[in-house]
Amino acid sequence: MTIEQLKKLIVDGGCVGAGGAGFPSAVKLAEGADSLVINAAECEPLLYSDYALMKQHLADVAAGAEYVIEATGIQKGYLGLKEHTAHRLGLHDGESISAHVVVKCLPNVYPMGDEIILIYQTLGRVVPPGQLPITVGVIVYNSETLYNICLAVRDGKPVTQKWVTVGGQVRKPFVTLVPVGTPVRELMQKYGITVPEDSVMIDGGPAMGPIINPDTAVITKTTKALLVLPKTAPAIASKLETNRTVNTHATANCCQCRLCTDMCPRALIGYPLTPHKIVRNSIQMMEQYPENFTEASVCSGCGICELTACCQGISPRGVYQQVKGILAKNKLRYQHKGEIRVDPDREYRMLPSERFKQRIGVAKYDVGVPEILADAYIPSRIELPLRQHIGAPAKPVVQVGDTVAIGQLVAQADGMISANIHSSVNGRVLEVSDSRIVIVV
Ligand code: SF4
Ligand code: SF4
Repeated sequence: MTIEQLKKLIVDGGCVGAGGAGFPSAVKLAEGADSLVINAAECEPLLYSDYALMKQHLADVAAGAEYVIEATGIQKGYLGLKEHTAHRLGLHDGESISAHVVVKCLPNVYPMGDEIILIYQTLGRVVPPGQLPITVGVIVYNSETLYNICLAVRDGKPVTQKWVTVGGQVRKPFVTLVPVGTPVRELMQKYGITVPEDSVMIDGGPAMGPIINPDTAVITKTTKALLVLPKTAPAIASKLETNRTVNTHATANCCQCRLCTDMCPRALIGYPLTPHKIVRNSIQMMEQYPENFTEASVCSGCGICELTACCQGISPRGVYQQVKGILAKNKLRYQHKGEIRVDPDREYRMLPSERFKQRIGVAKYDVGVPEILADAYIPSRIELPLRQHIGAPAKPVVQVGDTVAIGQLVAQADGMISANIHSSVNGRVLEVSDSRIVIVV
């Protein structure tokens, strides 16, 4: 199969980065790569969706990888996963899972799922700051994305379901397959999950996932987890801070200990991040001279600086997030020049995931590998956002009153950086707007 043929099948199937990014998968395919890295690191605490998928469908993940390898002429693929996950799956480092793909065991440190860190850990290559993995000959896909590519290519089945971990303050955490577009409130009712007054729901991992409103949120192609966590957990408390508080703390309380920079995982592989310096600047200064702060665009937002390094309650990540907004407004990005020097002490400064889990206040909710519920839940209605991916929203191709079947195209990609959307249920179209399509079963 050629790259163009594979791209077409991936576009037809509506495949986007399932790990949370939502980047249209076909766009990553290019000539010139020699390695494929499968991101199954399951970076954040409490997440088990990749594990559950691989437990049940490892052969399909490998088959998806082989389609990519064949079309691009890549020589070798690496299934990057934590050592304990490999152990649970009965795999070991260096073992082949298909003709060209071997297991790569990763240390249990955070944030191993950051693709820049993952590539360095797997291949010893540093992607130049602000550039894409292909510049160092690497293509990275999340394991679930490759599973979706396998279904799209082999079976002609588009993306209609999502592997989701439900955990945190719930009676018994679990992982299940959920139709894309399922309202979160309906899923919660089915499984008897409530969000107490003093808690919130997170879409994704506790450190990087945003707080969502469970009454209005829906499962999208990028939903990895729904976690109910208390507002007092450090990981959540920091999300509730206003920009004003973040900025006041930063300028008033920093003792310039530099620990945030010394522990920053991207700084440790040579990225130009100096969180201890960014907190010295006022937002007004950054607005006036945004060109002096373009390093912010290479911050991954992992939160180590704020959640583990800083003993003064300061959020360099929060400051960097605001700078990213200023850079976007001014259409500025970091331009890499010069050498990249990996810190020789990196190995000793990496943050063990167990420690991270304790520090962000979620360790007690990690009660071991959750149950995998086999049956896909069928909701009474689905609400499909037209933008579940990076890029332009998809354009509806159905009208109110149309009858649709599972897997039927309901909105078409609008250009290359966009994605097709398919119905995940058999039903009737109730609403079509600029932002979503609602289908009742
Ligand atoms: S959030 Fe903090 S620790 Fe993480 S990459 Fe950004 S500056 Fe570094
Ligand atoms: S760790 Fe906190 S106190 Fe230390 S330099 Fe960074 S922001 Fe300042």
